[in-house]
Amino acid sequence: MEQKQFQAESKRLMDMMIHSIYTHKEIFLRELISNASDAIDKLYFRSLTDDSVGMNKSDFGISIAIDKDARTLTISDNGIGMTKEEMEEHLGTIANSGSLQFKKENNLAEDNQIIGQFGVGFYSAFMVAKCVTVKSRAFGADQAYVWQSEGVEGYTIDTCDKDTVGTEITLELLPDVAGDEDGNGAENYSEYLDQYRIQSLIKRYSDYIRFPIRMEMTKSRKKEDSDEYEDYTETVTLNSMVPLWHKNKSEITEEEYNTFYRDKCGDYTNPLCHIHVHNEGSITYDALLYIPEHAPFNYYNKDYEKGLQLYANGVLIMDRCEDLLPDYFSFVKGLVDSEDLSLNISREMLQHDTQLRLIARSIERTIKNELKRMMKNDREKYEKFYQAFGLQLKYGVYSDYGMHKELLQDLLLFPSSKEGKLTSLQEYIDRMPEGQDAIYYATGESISRIELLPQTEQVKDKGYEILYFTENVDEFAIRMMQNYQDKPFKSVLDSSLDLESEEEKKALEEKQESSKTMLETMQKALEGKVGSVKLSGRLKSHPVCLSSEGELSMEMAKTLNAMPGANGEKLHANTVLEINPEHAIYQTLMQLQESDPEKLGEYAKLLYDQALLIAGMPIEDPVAFSNRICSLM
Ligand code: ADP
Ligand code: MG
Repeated sequence: MEQKQFQAESKRLMDMMIHSIYTHKEIFLRELISNASDAIDKLYFRSLTDDSVGMNKSDFGISIAIDKDARTLTISDNGIGMTKEEMEEHLGTIANSGSLQFKKENNLAEDNQIIGQFGVGFYSAFMVAKCVTVKSRAFGADQAYVWQSEGVEGYTIDTCDKDTVGTEITLELLPDVAGDEDGNGAENYSEYLDQYRIQSLIKRYSDYIRFPIRMEMTKSRKKEDSDEYEDYTETVTLNSMVPLWHKNKSEITEEEYNTFYRDKCGDYTNPLCHIHVHNEGSITYDALLYIPEHAPFNYYNKDYEKGLQLYANGVLIMDRCEDLLPDYFSFVKGLVDSEDLSLNISREMLQHDTQLRLIARSIERTIKNELKRMMKNDREKYEKFYQAFGLQLKYGVYSDYGMHKELLQDLLLFPSSKEGKLTSLQEYIDRMPEGQDAIYYATGESISRIELLPQTEQVKDKGYEILYFTENVDEFAIRMMQNYQDKPFKSVLDSSLDLESEEEKKALEEKQESSKTMLETMQKALEGKVGSVKLSGRLKSHPVCLSSEGELSMEMAKTLNAMPGANGEKLHANTVLEINPEHAIYQTLMQLQESDPEKLGEYAKLLYDQALLIAGMPIEDPVAFSNRICSLM
């Protein structure tokens, strides 16, 4: 027997890896199964050109055996095996991947099925095992060897008996650790001796390994003609082998897609739709994506976590890869499987991979196109989707300084004055009458509230449609867009709508001039509240309204002031009180200017509060408002 030291470097790496790279110890099983699958792939590859292998694809397989008394877990494969030299080289030296070398030597194309590339996965066994024993007989060799190690101290190699070609890895599990009073630091290694735990780990991480993974399981059944039970054993294939996403689309039923979604994505209802893509080109991948029917309860909270499952060659690498989804599509669930991923030192650290970025970009396009298609072909479904996730799209338009507005703008819908239906911006543009050169919108708490706004009258009279913005983010989002198809967005609450004819403007200006003193008295009474008091050309039946001048609208100021962190210092929109010169109130105001300017001031405050109420804004002093009304009565 030979006693050997690991290389100093390997020792350090091994120590580091055992203690830090992998966050979940359970993944050791995934690594060993992947290695077994790689070894089988190599021999299978060989069998395609070498008759002496004497095996068919169906002869290959992996088996798992549990021995509770000996506290061991054994994983065997009938793959290519290892020679003594290979054991020394691949198991004795960390970061020396035999798989990568094999790939190079055999000039394998990028799309071959071999998973291992970095030569560290094997060592993950030491996260759960006190002693690891590897018995292996290489293809073409008569002598088998046994490699054994208890960790960083070193390993031994010796000859042994083994009848068949392949590798058998036995882990002697570490003793359980009780941990402190609160259970901190507790470790339960015995769970890997539980057949159901192993079964579920295989289902979770290695379900789609393309060779059968079998285990003899002990089950219980009722004896015939008796109430007693008896144990029996049965060899069970633990993995399903063919990934759903590798099957032909035409062979998959809607029900299969839905069941898969409910199982894997943890939703209790069926998804709104699935997107199944096979992509070739700059990067090859398969993706099975789902759009849920409803937003998860925590979707709009901070604790919602987006991401897709990531597989490399059918082996689960990451449960939630955030980088595959942009925030505005964070509602999408599902998985991506690619042969092109270059595996990093830890399969859990792929974040900055260029291939990953390529996939993410391609997926973003796919999702967008699917949503556009749905909007066009199945409007009802799209509106259902929009009900759940439209808000997220609007945040997307606004976020990152409007960087994604081009991508998202055609996915937006807003309620509008037209038949009370949701409309896209394109549909709005298509309906615009001749002469209209802006997209009009009005903001308010609800549609019914907005419809009562006096400012909407003039625009509607012109035959122009108005988009109704009822959510805080709406106005911020379209301000970020600035315009759509060269048409600027305009708020009907803006003081400079400029919809009057030349004559109307002139008449108004004259009237404004002759009402100057009255307007000034009112403005003085409202100092600190409004920027100016003006006569309005747009009001029809209403006496007054509020509008705003400049960048910040009243609704936006309201939203910003309500935001956490907006402590104390309030933002104010530059507000204008508009008075309808055609309304009876105008004459009253003019007369008061002559007879009782003080009362005019009181009237100004009253009208201002009224305008606030109509606009759905809170009045500053409800008691004063009420007192003023009473004194008039
Ligand atoms: P990787 O799989 O990334 O190459 P590992 O640390 O998981 O790295 O494995 C190191 C090497 O050990 C493999 O590349 C392979 O050459 C060899 N090896 C591990 N397990 C087996 C096995 N079951 N059969 C044959 N060779 C194996
Ligand atoms: Mg490996």
